[in-house]
Amino acid sequence: MFRLEILPARYGDCILLEYGSDPVRRMLIDGGAPGVYKRALKPRLKELADDERDFELLVITHVDYDHIRGIIELAHDDSLPFKAKDIWFNGFRHLPKPPGPKILAGKHGEELTDLILKNGHSWNSHGFNGNAVVIPENGDLPRIVFDDMTVTLMAPTLPMLADLRKDWEKSCEDIDITPEELEKARSEGKFALLGDEEQKAPEKARPDIEQLLREEYTEDNSSANGSSIAFLVEYADYRVLLAGDAHPSTLVESIKRLGEERLKLDFCKLPHHGSRGSVSSELIQHLDCENYIFSSNGDQFRHPHPEAVARVIEYGGECPNLLFNYRTRWTEIWDDKPLRDAYGYETRYPKKEQDGLTIVNGECQ
Ligand SMILES: [Zn+2]
Repeated sequence: MFRLEILPARYGDCILLEYGSDPVRRMLIDGGAPGVYKRALKPRLKELADDERDFELLVITHVDYDHIRGIIELAHDDSLPFKAKDIWFNGFRHLPKPPGPKILAGKHGEELTDLILKNGHSWNSHGFNGNAVVIPENGDLPRIVFDDMTVTLMAPTLPMLADLRKDWEKSCEDIDITPEELEKARSEGKFALLGDEEQKAPEKARPDIEQLLREEYTEDNSSANGSSIAFLVEYADYRVLLAGDAHPSTLVESIKRLGEERLKLDFCKLPHHGSRGSVSSELIQHLDCENYIFSSNGDQFRHPHPEAVARVIEYGGECPNLLFNYRTRWTEIWDDKPLRDAYGYETRYPKKEQDGLTIVNGECQ
């Protein structure tokens, strides 16, 4: 059994992986944006028996709020027993020191560090001996075996972590919101936060794929995203790339290091929620994959960006499946039969918002 759940994590990621049968083993990757823990992650974890909440691995891909927030809430929640045999998270201690003055660390990264240490968790142990979860400059990519599951690390590189060190503090403020503002918004039942004016629906017009493909491409330069842990999971015959918010050029370099012209995949969770700076044509051309997962409800950054979706349609194989974990104004523009017929692609949306996207043994549920 191999089950991949892309929970409705608002503009973030929260991914539950289950594999095996006796016993079923589990990994959790990220905890989503504010509100996701209470609305999606906790209810999902509560469905498990207490002894099933003993996970093989918890990965916090990077410090950005839309990935770390739900994990901090989980760690604070005494009402729900949760254990992970190991945690992969690159904290400030794992970031190489650049010359120059020491800067203070970002508050959410520090908070999580505190929780990990306080609870005496095993930290970056399995595969990395307590050091940074990072791919070496040369040689083979780290391949870590968890029983019958293999995890191959695809990002980050050490220079990416050095960049994050410089921006650690700033990276946590980039989202530009405070928990108090969010609490207030939640209590008022508003979930489209901040800048409603800015988030007007895009034109209802059919996307112009040719025009979108001509748009100039500039790679994402966020150091926090660049520090993101990304990995390939292999179980039985299934191969899935969970790309976090990693930079596409890093992923392409890792694919080359694996010695595969095109990385053969069953599913690809695209980097950075399908942003225009993170889904490059080059990355898609280096994948041999039919199923592309976009994880975002479009809050904050209007992900997925249409340029990114157009690149997947153009370069993602004969008939790529676009799998969205929300139906939103940014995703439903692709549910257009004439466009699908003209370009040869399929779309998939959850029936209800709280469903997210669930894939069992390679089939979308
Ligand atoms: Zn993100």
